[in-house]
Amino acid sequence: MKINYAIIVVSILIVWSCSKPKVIDIDSKKLLENVKILSNDSLEGRYFSAPGNYKAQKFISNKFKELGLKTVSENNFLQEFSHTFKKQKRQDIFPIQNPKEDFSNVPDTTAIGGNIIGMLKGKTNKTIVITAHFDHLGIKDGKIFNGADDNASGTAALFTIAAYFKNKPTQHNLIFAAVDAEEIGSLGAEYFLKNYKEKKNIVLNINLDMIAHSDYDPDLFACGLYHYPDLRKPLEKIKPEKIKLLFGHDDSNSKEQSDWTFSSDHRVFHREKIPFIYFGVPDHKDYHRSTDTFATINKSFYIESVKVIIQAIENFDEYLTE
Ligand SMILES: [Zn+2]
Repeated sequence: MKINYAIIVVSILIVWSCSKPKVIDIDSKKLLENVKILSNDSLEGRYFSAPGNYKAQKFISNKFKELGLKTVSENNFLQEFSHTFKKQKRQDIFPIQNPKEDFSNVPDTTAIGGNIIGMLKGKTNKTIVITAHFDHLGIKDGKIFNGADDNASGTAALFTIAAYFKNKPTQHNLIFAAVDAEEIGSLGAEYFLKNYKEKKNIVLNINLDMIAHSDYDPDLFACGLYHYPDLRKPLEKIKPEKIKLLFGHDDSNSKEQSDWTFSSDHRVFHREKIPFIYFGVPDHKDYHRSTDTFATINKSFYIESVKVIIQAIENFDEYLTE
């Protein structure tokens, strides 16, 4: 009888320790501070090739340097690229101007953008690319579109994730790509992938875009399993306590859910047949509005989202090595 009791106690302990959520230690105060800075009025909505966007580039570069990340190409975190707008699209790059102005006689315009790319070396040459776009919509009708959730949240998460893995070496190289020009067609992500020399070593893209806003249900979605069902196990292992991690929004035949397969920068990787998992929330009342500010994001939801994403990366690092 005594032995049976012992077995029961041990079994309970095992079940308890398996279902206990993993503790992920991050500096939440710093995380929120960085979102606040990136969504500050002084960055004027971080529009592609606008002064506020350049300020954001500098801020991100300095953070990567502070974190001790390695550069990927040359000796610079900043990867500049140019884009030529046809004249009928010129108003897109100068949203501050009167939208009713006639642009038919203006010439094509070339503008300069820039990704900020940093890396933590892994033990193998296989690579996970973590992307988050930092550009947003700029100023429209005199109103600053701060884009705190879209996507200061994902960008600031890059710093916290990098800080976490700095002292926990992974099997995979982790590339942290703060990419430009998502809002005008993923130009930055496209430029990065096209010019990355070790493309064949990329085994996964984790894309973060809008991870800090939940008005009603604390639901964070991981999208991509419909296309890459093999990636399910590492995500299922995560047991978040305070938010819900849901799968979906990746099947174009679904009648209940919209398909997000091509909704953000992960589409660039998917088109190249590189597996992706995209973390995000459904469009909300502040989405693409001037009210998407630091005040309207859900701080505790955001902190938990970042912890879930860190666990996902940890699990994928292990799972994709096996
Ligand atoms: Zn976005």
